[in-house]
Amino acid sequence: MKAHIITYGCQMNEYDSHLVQSQLVSLGADMVDSIDEADFVLLNTCAVRGKPVDKVRSVLGQLRKEKAVRPLVIGMMGCLAQLEEGQQIARKFEVDVLLGPGSLLDIGAALESNERFWSLQFKDELHDHIPPPPVGKLQAHLTIMRGCDHHCTYCIVPTTRGPQVSRHPDQILRELDSLLGAGVREVTLLGQNVNAYGFDAGAKLAGYPSFADLLRMVGGSGIERVKFTTSHPMNFTEDVAVAMSETPAVCDFVHLPVQSGSDRVLRRMAREYSREKYLTHIGQIKKHLPDAVLATDIIVGFPGETEEDFQDTLSLYDEVGFDSAYMFIYSPRPGTPSYKHFQDLPREVKTERLQRLIVKQKEWSARRNARFQGTLQEVLLRGDAYSAGHLEGHTRGNHPIVVPRAIGAEGAGLYRARVTATTPHMFYGELVGADGQALPLLPNLAPEAAGLTSPLMMV
Ligand code: SAM
Ligand code: SF4
Repeated sequence: MKAHIITYGCQMNEYDSHLVQSQLVSLGADMVDSIDEADFVLLNTCAVRGKPVDKVRSVLGQLRKEKAVRPLVIGMMGCLAQLEEGQQIARKFEVDVLLGPGSLLDIGAALESNERFWSLQFKDELHDHIPPPPVGKLQAHLTIMRGCDHHCTYCIVPTTRGPQVSRHPDQILRELDSLLGAGVREVTLLGQNVNAYGFDAGAKLAGYPSFADLLRMVGGSGIERVKFTTSHPMNFTEDVAVAMSETPAVCDFVHLPVQSGSDRVLRRMAREYSREKYLTHIGQIKKHLPDAVLATDIIVGFPGETEEDFQDTLSLYDEVGFDSAYMFIYSPRPGTPSYKHFQDLPREVKTERLQRLIVKQKEWSARRNARFQGTLQEVLLRGDAYSAGHLEGHTRGNHPIVVPRAIGAEGAGLYRARVTATTPHMFYGELVGADGQALPLLPNLAPEAAGLTSPLMMV
């Protein structure tokens, strides 16, 4: 069998695609790079906003046409698969295999079955399953928990991914060992709300460390870089910032979604914290990690958001000075409380606010990134950049960076680089040796590579 997986959505979906792909390979499948080459195409879907759902519809339309003229098995997994909305889409587009986020290990049974196979249960075996490490990668994800116990009124995730289940620390450390053995140097711990790790349904699980202690354990394992996402402000504790500051492997990067700067909107979102509480957490992070890189998520145009509420979001942005932000227009999702109870704002209002927020974000990202100009950064280079003769990667603070190849640093790896230019979204730099001197460029690439270290040359 020739199989192809297309992944939409978050890092958790990337992790799940890897998990299913490794199952497919162990069952003898060849993974191929395009739909055309495949006789099994599996879409790993996202249902958090309307746009990724539209995208899945359009790809399924294309697959249904192909299925009419050649043998093709169509599969759908992930959040959308779990919803009635997704199941209607699956029926319409003749999806053969449908796996909810809790039944990914049924992929083998699905392929053995000669008829339509749908599985939507949340199965415990998933939490103990350790997928093989990714091959030849320096970076990996590690799921520490699944599901979510919060009920933010706009969010479909608790419905699609079920209640929170923390993975046992032994499983996490075993998976980490296998990643280390395979040469992984940066791991990102994943969960919808990592700060609530070990507190499922609000109760402390016996034998489970707090998230801060888990960070200490993972950081002491020998892995060089540890990141985590996503933190929920409601469950954030100062101890997490302390653990980060005491554990050198844990990168000074905190992604703490605020969603809105207005208390009124936060209440309507049922976020369970206030603007003041959020700012207290930011103060604690800045106290223990003065150089921390701060990222957030913001939803613009939540139902009932007034201009004054939106101004509160802009002023919060200034008060924190975020390094970066994922900004979303509110998307009404069937099945969520806000969809049921609140009236959506006009599209123009939402897009106009988003534009103003993007201006704010660019100003701050430009300012925050500029402070790294001339500094030395540890960079994890993944491989070829888009521009010839260059490598791309990211810093400990998650800034994407492009550097020219240099003698002694020709491929993927962990290196040191001097930042020579910054934009709101990008760093440019040069690789340096242990003495802080720039490494010589590869002779045949030097002229072109030298020119591309200026951001102006990239546009
Ligand atoms: N669990 C994380 C948290 O609470 O911060 C976030 C997980 S959610 C899948 C990722 C982001 O999607 C959220 O932080 C939120 O900004 C955005 N999001 C979720 N539902 C949305 C909706 N209905 N419309 C727009 N953005 C949404
Ligand atoms: Fe969704 Fe809120 Fe849970 Fe995050 S914490 S996944 S936004 S319900």
